[in-house]
Order: sequence, then structure tokens, then C-alpha cells
Amino acid sequence: MELNVAAELKTPGLVSHAQIEQVFPEMELAGSRIRLAEPVALEFKYSFDGEGVDLMGVLSSSLIMNCTKCNEEFVKPFSVDFSERFLKVSDEEAEELDCYSYAGEVLKLDKMAEDLILLNAPLYSLCRPDCKGLCPICGTNLNISQCSCTAEDDSSPFAALKRLKELLNQDQED
Ligand SMILES: [Zn+2]
Ligand SMILES: [Zn+2]
Repeated sequence: MELNVAAELKTPGLVSHAQIEQVFPEMELAGSRIRLAEPVALEFKYSFDGEGVDLMGVLSSSLIMNCTKCNEEFVKPFSVDFSERFLKVSDEEAEELDCYSYAGEVLKLDKMAEDLILLNAPLYSLCRPDCKGLCPICGTNLNISQCSCTAEDDSSPFAALKRLKELLNQDQED
């Protein structure tokens, strides 16, 4: 992911627009894998102010995730707004100044894109807001099918009947 800024460096204040896409490999964050279902797309405005190059725009892609409740794999669109600055300094200086470094007339955007993903990608998510999850007894995915264990569920009419029967039996015993 590279951006040629030769024209902007010659013309401070000139605002340009760019759209860049690139396929990213799998990343790892705190032991969790971050997998991307689509290339990472950057769309942004950029300009040189005489000292540094400022980029402002949005990064978007989509993540392959496993639902926290049912563990099914699903694709979640992901986007994050960004505003970053590139300076002609060493990598160490850039880190201290909380910006990115560049040399010559080309900005390398890979690290910025990777940082944005690692800092903003959700690690946990549900496949849908009303995911029913797995049956805690038999492990059936309750989004796809019902299992017989759920008939014992407190809210089912069978459970209500069963409770009533138990109550009646207790009465007789008394
Ligand atoms: Zn789910
Ligand atoms: Zn079950």
C-alpha cells in the first residue's frame, strides 16, 4: 500500500483524494486471529502543510469472525475513520511523536492500516443480535434447529404442565 505524494510535496496546501485497496494477510491480536474476508480499502484526502503529510478518511473491510454464542463463522463489515500524520523523521522519532515516518516521495501505508485494524477491530461479536446460541445440554445450534432438551425449558407449555402435575402430587401426599 503506497501513496506517491510528489505533487503534494511540491504544492503545500493542495488537497488530493485517493482510493487504495490491498489484500492483507491474517493478523494476530492478544492470541486472537484477525481474518479479513475482503481486501482492506482506504479512501482519504491528503495534503502537505510544509512539514508533514496529513491523511484523513476511512478504512473499511470485513472480518471473518466466530460468534461468541453459537461459534458459527460469519462475516462482519468493519470500518473506522482515521486522521494520521506522516513526517520525514526516523521510525523511532515517529513513534515518539505518535505519527508515521516516510522517506522520499512515497508514503508506505501498510503499518498505518494494520494499526487501525488492530486497534479497532472487534474481537468478540454475535452472528446476529438475537443469536439463540447453543443448547447447554446437547450443544445443538438453536438458530438452526430445536432439540428435545429445550422442551424442558421453564417457559415451554410442557414445563408448565409438568410443574402443575408435581404440585398436584404434592397436594395428594400432604
Ligand atoms: Zn451466533
Ligand atoms: Zn439440547
